[in-house]
Amino acid sequence: MNPQPGTVYLLGAGPGDPELITVKAVRILEAADVVVHDRLVHSDLLKHASPKSAIINVGKSPAHQRFTQAEINTLLVELARKGQIVARLKGGDPFVFGRGCEERLACEEAGVDCIVVPGVSSAIAGPAVLGIPVTHRHVSRSFAVVTARTDPSDGGEHLDYSALAAMDTVVVLMGHSVLGIVAENLIRAGRDPKTPTACIERATTEDQRYVVATLATIGMAVDRADLQPPVVTIISETVRLADLIA
Ligand code: SAH
Repeated sequence: MNPQPGTVYLLGAGPGDPELITVKAVRILEAADVVVHDRLVHSDLLKHASPKSAIINVGKSPAHQRFTQAEINTLLVELARKGQIVARLKGGDPFVFGRGCEERLACEEAGVDCIVVPGVSSAIAGPAVLGIPVTHRHVSRSFAVVTARTDPSDGGEHLDYSALAAMDTVVVLMGHSVLGIVAENLIRAGRDPKTPTACIERATTEDQRYVVATLATIGMAVDRADLQPPVVTIISETVRLADLIA
């Protein structure tokens, strides 16, 4: 594909390891006039951009809100209207809790072309690098990916815990500070407290760390190991398949 001026490309950056980006996303980064990226994007990925291209970090850290979502939407539209090739680089897959579709809809509303390039999501890749599958014959035939954020102004939703408790595999993103509460709610909704659970910090990067516990003890285990965000948590009998449990 030939990247077009005046177009916004929503690129999945992959879960962390800079080699886990798609060939297509790299080609667009190389051609981009401007790269607009999030905080969780690995700095090595920015090296694909031409030295002439502008790099804008719109990443939000918990303590430091840099750009609102509305400001990011406006920025993308303005850059595209100047005739630039706009690479919008987002962690993991742009459509998994990345607010990617909000950006695509803002482009559409403004009459700006927007093309989505899917990425490898931390929800699946994080467990996978430890050898934990989200599905496995006879063990898990369904998986749900949920956010543990419950503040609607922050993209959070109230979760239907009884529906979740019935899924074979539950993957929790953005759950670091509320993992214990999510676990408690799942147990109250009928999930076996002994369900094996793994929590992985900075999955797929050199700094990756993880803990394995049960649903009942994962909150404590994460605190004891002092895991820090970003973490991805998988609650599933498939955790046993990775041979990590002591
Ligand atoms: N679109 C992204 C998710 C964005 S929400 C994706 O598809 O991966 C941000 C959350 O993703 C983080 O709070 C964390 O739960 C998870 N996450 C992203 N990168 C991660 C990584 N390398 N290791 C562990 N969790 C990660």
